[in-house]
Amino acid sequence: MKEGIHPKYMAAHVTCVCGASFVTRSTVGDIKLEICSECHPFYTGRQKVIDTAGRIDRFNQRFQKSKGIQAAKQEKAEQKA
Ligand SMILES: [Zn+2]
Repeated sequence: MKEGIHPKYMAAHVTCVCGASFVTRSTVGDIKLEICSECHPFYTGRQKVIDTAGRIDRFNQRFQKSKGIQAAKQEKAEQKA
């Protein structure tokens, strides 16, 4: 190995927000993850909703609103008939 050109390659403790952790080696030191192979749906096979900024809530609110509008339209149509 040539001197002075290689970064330090040290043990790295990798921890995920799901609680999983393992040790590997890296040049950047300890690593914190938001998703890992223990909790990613691809590996678990379970569907998991990763809701960013309440998008699902907003969708449901809009969905409810449109349901209300549809019901009102139907009522009007029934009154005409
Ligand atoms: Zn994880």
